[in-house]
Amino acid sequence: MNHEDMNKLLKPKSIAVIGASATPGKIGYTVLENLQKSGYQGPVYPINPSATEILGMKCYASLADVSGSIDAAVMCVPVKLVNACAEDCGKKGVKGLIVITSGFSEVGRKDLEDELIATAKKYGMRILGPNIVGTLSNSDKMNASFAPFLPLDGKATLVTQSGALLIAMDAATYTRRVGFDKMVSIGNMCDVDIADIIDWLNDDPNSTCTSLYIEGLKDGRKFIKSGRASKKPIIALKSGVSAHGAAAAASHTGSLAGAAKVYGSAFKQAGVIQASDLDNLFDRTLALSLMPPLKGENLLVITNGGGVGVLATDAAERYGIPMKFAPKDVQDEMKKHMPEFGSAKNPVDLTGMAGTEWYTESVRFAISHSWVEGLIVLYCETAMTNPLEIAKGIKQAIDEAGQKDKPVTVSFVGGEKSAAAMAWLVENGVPAYGAPDLAVNAMAALREYALLRETAKEPSYKPNDAARKAAMKIISAARADGRDALTEIEAKQVFMAYNLPVTTTELAKSEDEAVALAKKIGFPVVMKIVSPEILHKSDAGGVKVNIKDEAACREAYNTIIKNAKAYKADANIHGIAIQEMAPWGTETILGSTNDSTFGPTIMFGLGGIFVEVLKDVTFRVAPVDKVQAVEMFDEIRAAAILKGARGESPRDRKALAETVEKYSNMISDLEDEISESDANPVLVYEEGKGLKVVDARIILKKK
Ligand code: ADP
Ligand code: MG
Repeated sequence: MNHEDMNKLLKPKSIAVIGASATPGKIGYTVLENLQKSGYQGPVYPINPSATEILGMKCYASLADVSGSIDAAVMCVPVKLVNACAEDCGKKGVKGLIVITSGFSEVGRKDLEDELIATAKKYGMRILGPNIVGTLSNSDKMNASFAPFLPLDGKATLVTQSGALLIAMDAATYTRRVGFDKMVSIGNMCDVDIADIIDWLNDDPNSTCTSLYIEGLKDGRKFIKSGRASKKPIIALKSGVSAHGAAAAASHTGSLAGAAKVYGSAFKQAGVIQASDLDNLFDRTLALSLMPPLKGENLLVITNGGGVGVLATDAAERYGIPMKFAPKDVQDEMKKHMPEFGSAKNPVDLTGMAGTEWYTESVRFAISHSWVEGLIVLYCETAMTNPLEIAKGIKQAIDEAGQKDKPVTVSFVGGEKSAAAMAWLVENGVPAYGAPDLAVNAMAALREYALLRETAKEPSYKPNDAARKAAMKIISAARADGRDALTEIEAKQVFMAYNLPVTTTELAKSEDEAVALAKKIGFPVVMKIVSPEILHKSDAGGVKVNIKDEAACREAYNTIIKNAKAYKADANIHGIAIQEMAPWGTETILGSTNDSTFGPTIMFGLGGIFVEVLKDVTFRVAPVDKVQAVEMFDEIRAAAILKGARGESPRDRKALAETVEKYSNMISDLEDEISESDANPVLVYEEGKGLKVVDARIILKKK
């Protein structure tokens, strides 16, 4: 990405407004007026052949009439004129197109958008939009949009896919007291996308946190890459998280992979913090834009009221940063700033008698103490104390302690005086919230950021050409047969190419062959129907386990064939799979989908017949390595079962992690071939005893 070009688009030194209008209420008028009102310093060139002057600015008939150079052009013309104007811009040497005009891919006119992209490419221009509100920057005194004013000044940057939300959030910054330096409406992202903005912001001294409203990404992997490389915290609110395409999915994984889960995992892998709703986006943005990450788990809470202290304690546990008792020397010191009946344990309860001095002294001590890694200061409004004075005392203590790498969040519970005190705190760089759990949630975001910085790393992965070649033989044969579903036997052969521990499985085409194979493999065996049209074999009465001898084998053979024919009369039956009977183990599931946004995505969870009911599964965009595999094990609700719960010995998580890594390599290598797959169940044994994949399924991409 060319940084200079992005600067010309987002921090232009001169701007043309194409489609400038002299009629108040028109976008071409509003944009001009906004540039003027925001105090934009560079030259602004209104372009409109039928006006000579608008808002006191000289108006030009065409770009060619402008003698000075132009960095960016804001397009407000009707959609049918955009491409011709873009051509003019290219000829004039404009580098950035801010295309407000709508009527492109969002209404099915991708052709117009493609033409715009082609023109931009031809002249080396970058495009923001189309279909946007524009872009706003406090540090550049630039409101190049039709949002009515610049946001409350601050240190965050908002990038949003919803223009309406930008305008609303812009106004809300003043009532919520959350400041932004920039707001960027990203629209259709035909060229510049969210990842490009994240990259560009790395070098922007005025922005410390990137706040995203996402409806849908186009290139999920590019996003993950830029997230990982970001030098600043990123927080995302994702909308549209209801499950999609689940009903039509052929595999377990397909039906379990809702958009929400895959996005959630991708955010984690990108090092992106999530917001649960719009309020939460504002609240977390405030803390992330003002405070450093919370490096450890030693959190101290100072309060003047027991109630808010307990609420904070509950919230701390809920948000994953449970409180601990403070060490003795901290408690001893704290006791000096409270009456007999106070509590120094943590939360430190200074009691309702606490005035500015006690607050100031205890906060100063707390931040300076080596045990304390983060501090939450709570205050309940009382008749005896002055909220603003307390706020000033807190800020003074923070400054005097001089510890810039320890985060502090504050909550004042009370009325107008408390609200004013919190506004003062925020203006002075200290995030403050109207309820204790909000201050804790903000602190949790700072902890999540610290943790994500450590875990959101590129996994080790290199394609395995030999395995891929072996797998392709099986896949090509199935395709030649006109199929996109592999049989269990074929799927297991692909798995085997990647060294996945599958049960020995062979195909019998007659009763006698079945008996011979069963003897070769050794009783007891498992017998299953092999038909590309019967994917869920048990449903068709197509699985018989624990076949102990020849007589049972013959009987099972005939029963399975009969059941299969009853289930689907015209099913193409390849025969019966005879396989070793694996000993009982903990049933887990591994699966994959090929997500339209993120590509190959791996799933892990507790398996067995209840997998769709319990939905105890987790996802990662592939590839993942062993380290990330273990993170996945710890994420499911049944994590404790793998660790050895209720007298059970711990399961072989090491072997399982290796299997997850191999599986993820398989779906990555075969990205162009595999649409969905699963291994259900994977039976996991106790530590040191490995695991067995007893069932395998692969659905190919349609070609
Ligand atoms: P499907 O999922 O198509 O119905 P499976 O191959 O998963 O069929 O078989 C159903 C169940 O039978 C499995 O969940 C597992 O409990 C058991 N099973 C299948 N194959 C074996 C095997 N080789 N060893 C032990 N148990 C098996
Ligand atoms: Mg199965």
